[in-house]
Amino acid sequence: LIEARGVCKTYGNGVAALDEVSLTVARGEVVCIVGPSGSGKSTLLRTLNAMEPISAGEIRVLGEAVHDRRTNLNRLRTRVGMVFQAFNLFPHRTVLQNLMLAPRIVGGVADAQAREQALRLLDKVGLGDKHDQYPGQLSGGQQQRVAIARALAMNPQIMLFDEPTSALDPEKVGEVLDVMKALAAEGMTMCVVTHEMGFARAVASRVVFMDAGRICHVDEPQRFFDGSGHPRLQAFLGQVL
Ligand code: ATP
Ligand code: MG
Repeated sequence: LIEARGVCKTYGNGVAALDEVSLTVARGEVVCIVGPSGSGKSTLLRTLNAMEPISAGEIRVLGEAVHDRRTNLNRLRTRVGMVFQAFNLFPHRTVLQNLMLAPRIVGGVADAQAREQALRLLDKVGLGDKHDQYPGQLSGGQQQRVAIARALAMNPQIMLFDEPTSALDPEKVGEVLDVMKALAAEGMTMCVVTHEMGFARAVASRVVFMDAGRICHVDEPQRFFDGSGHPRLQAFLGQVL
């Protein structure tokens, strides 16, 4: 569903954030992306969603050339859900309204149907009783679960996660990872930038190691973590495990 080939990205300030990155993600795969700070993980994820222009290369997502001017980005973005480290919920809208907004306005879904789906998704992330609360009344873990439910409300075919648990208190991390695990078990295609190596080991189909704007190593989780990979990967794992 995702095919990136030779992608380069240089920011306006001259920083080469992506250097010849190629990656394919098949339907139902969960690809975890790990690596040191500044290695280009977020940049890569954002280019997949056309939130970031690229300097060279090509990215196809769901058969569409993401950086082709003729591609309908609004439609593409409804099919690719994204969840960030900061939850980015609308603070002056209730949880239910947060979930209903995009389906109604972008998706043209009828009010009753949007409401029914929103409630079903809130149940799914374990927050069925919170629909009338405002984001500020929820814990970080609950807000992130709302953010996931909100992304799912557009019925995406791919979900991108950028360090979804990094802003959470340690005891709230598990509840968000559990929701993501359930999503993976349902067959959702996912790209997850994460520092949660336990999650990557347990859930990933493949783990990608990025360093200095390049993909240095890609492997299935068992081999990825077994200590036989690239020396820079070993150094990284030595720090985080
Ligand atoms: P982290 O783990 O800290 O989130 P990352 O792997 O996600 O890091 P990126 O955010 O993709 O890294 O950044 C890659 C490089 O691009 C870094 O050197 C960063 O300083 C630079 N960079 C990121 N965003 C911008 C921007 N908007 N303008 C200029 N440079 C940027
Ligand atoms: Mg990042």
